[in-house]
Amino acid sequence: MKRELLPITKAAYKANLHTHTTLSDGSQDIKTVKQQYKEHGYSVVAFSDHEGLLPHTDLKDPDFLPLTSYEVAVNDNSRRTDDYSFIKSCHMNLIAPEEDCSVSPIFNIDQIWPRIEHIKNYISEEQKQVAFHLDYTTEDFNNMIAAANEKGFLVTFNHPVWSTMNYVDYGGFRGLWGVECYNTGAAREGYVDTMQPIDDLLMQGEKVFPVAADDSHSLKDCFGGWVMIRADELNHKSIYIALKNGDFYASTGPDFEAITLENNIVTVKCSPAVKVFVSSERRFAHAVKAEEGSTITEAKFDLTNYLKFSPFENGYIRFTVVDAAGKEAHSRPYFLNELI
Ligand SMILES: [Zn+2]
Ligand SMILES: [Zn+2]
Repeated sequence: MKRELLPITKAAYKANLHTHTTLSDGSQDIKTVKQQYKEHGYSVVAFSDHEGLLPHTDLKDPDFLPLTSYEVAVNDNSRRTDDYSFIKSCHMNLIAPEEDCSVSPIFNIDQIWPRIEHIKNYISEEQKQVAFHLDYTTEDFNNMIAAANEKGFLVTFNHPVWSTMNYVDYGGFRGLWGVECYNTGAAREGYVDTMQPIDDLLMQGEKVFPVAADDSHSLKDCFGGWVMIRADELNHKSIYIALKNGDFYASTGPDFEAITLENNIVTVKCSPAVKVFVSSERRFAHAVKAEEGSTITEAKFDLTNYLKFSPFENGYIRFTVVDAAGKEAHSRPYFLNELI
């Protein structure tokens, strides 16, 4: 029986899940940001201004959905504080389950630094009553993720490379929904994220999805990384559920058209690519490459050898498409218990 691993839906919606405006430290006002993303073919933007969960339902239109979200930042103040470049700074984005949500269980008022003080004018009074102290410890981050998950928020670990965080910092994170594998703003400055933190967490049994996003603060860091969401309708509930289920892929260029599984063979259909590969939690990877100077739009992978061994507890496969410009698309991981 043929199975669609990337669901066939009525539509695919291009989304930037990480955006700043003048409400925090972005340089453009929110209406301009909306207009620019719309003009570049985006249907969804998560306005994730720092520390302020602000619904923007007034920006909704038949072709555009503002996702209600915000970014939480926590500095490692145990390191020297006279030079910001030494400080690790863990940032996470929280996407709300409901569009009119203006209160989160996480409000780390300590982190409202002077540059974004003006966001306090927009934060709900109820939110200001929430006290949630966060130190830079795995325990505090996990308590935050758990509290957010309990209220239905999707939590993404942002730009690990810019944050100068390594496995020692994030290896113990539990309950994340996403990790940024690409952040346009960070990459532009030279902090280029990778899939490694995602594989590190997946190998421990965490079910995390790759997210490519702009983290745009100005027009210079727009339109570099996005997710393409498969959903039937453009509304907050439908997009939230698709995100929660992993019905999307991350990209800096190429597209997945279809990923199907039939008789242990996965067929990946994609936009023109020079290479398509499968990778997994064990030393099982395989790449299908185009002839020099040409491209492919389909690749087949035989999973028989992978699936015939008794499955490891944390098994998964995932797919990558690379185009001629070196841009990449990453599928979500497909877990062994979904494949057999
Ligand atoms: Zn950040
Ligand atoms: Zn940000």
